[in-house]
Amino acid sequence: MSIEDLARANVRALTPYQSARRLGGNGDVWLNANEFPLPVPFELSQQTLNRYPECQPKIVIERYAAYAGLTPEQVIVSRGADEGIELLMRAFCEPGKDAILFCPPTYGMYSVSAETIGIEYRTVAALDNWQLNLPAIAEQLDGVKVVYMCSPNNPTGNLINQDDIRKLLEMTAGKALLVADEAYIEFCPEATLAGWLKAYPHLVILRTLSKAFALAGLRCGFTLANKPVIDLLMKVIAPYPLLRRLPMWQAKP
Ligand SMILES: *Cc1c(COP(=O)(O)O)cnc(C)c1O
Repeated sequence: MSIEDLARANVRALTPYQSARRLGGNGDVWLNANEFPLPVPFELSQQTLNRYPECQPKIVIERYAAYAGLTPEQVIVSRGADEGIELLMRAFCEPGKDAILFCPPTYGMYSVSAETIGIEYRTVAALDNWQLNLPAIAEQLDGVKVVYMCSPNNPTGNLINQDDIRKLLEMTAGKALLVADEAYIEFCPEATLAGWLKAYPHLVILRTLSKAFALAGLRCGFTLANKPVIDLLMKVIAPYPLLRRLPMWQAKP
C-alpha cells in the first residue's frame, strides 16, 4: 500500500486552497491576497519565545471586545479568521452527516475546510445583483448546520441586504448557525452585525487583522458570538493557537 493510499479519501481528492503565496508569481501587489500593500511598523513588546503563549491572551480579548463593542466572553481569538471558519465546522458539523452552505461567488476557504474535514457543502449561487437567493437557500437548508455569508463579500465587494440577513436568521433559528464573515468590515464599519448578537443566539461573526489592519503576517483573527457558541469553540481550538506576543495595539505612528 502506498503512502497516498493510506490517506483519507477526501484528502486524496482535495485541491488545497490556492493562496496567493502558494500560487506565487512576481511583482509587488497581489490582488488575490487582499493584503495591505505597505508595511506598517509594529513593535512586539514580548521578546522571549521560550514559553508557550496563553491560549486566549486576556489583553487581546479585552481590547478586541472593546473595539467590537462586545464583552470579552463574546470573543475568541485564533490563527486568522481561517481557523475560525474551521473551528465552527469542527464544533458543529458531524462529518458524513451534517452540511454547510454558502453562496458563490465567495471566499474559497469554506469549501476547502469542509472537504478537509469531510463535511458536505451545499452552494446556492448568488443572484445577478450578488444578493442572497433566499427561496433557494430555504430549499437547501435540511441538514445544514452552518451557513457562511460574507459581507462585504470577497470577491464581489458588495454588502448583503440587511433585510435579507434578518430573513436568513429567522430561517436558520434553532437549526443552524449563521456565520457572517466580516473580514472587510473596516471598509464599511456601519454594516457590522455585532449589535445583532444579543437578539440572535445562532449568529456568529468572523473578523481578522489581516486586511484593514495590515497584519496578515501575524495570523490573528476573531470569532464573535454569544457565550454558548464561544464555549464550544474553546473545546476544539488548539492549545496554543497564537504566537507569544503582546500587545498588537501598540502601532507606531
Ligand atoms: C482574508 C479573508 C479571511 C481570512 O483571513 P485570515 O488571514 O485567516 O485572518 C477570511 N474571510 C475572508 C472573506 C477573507 O477575505
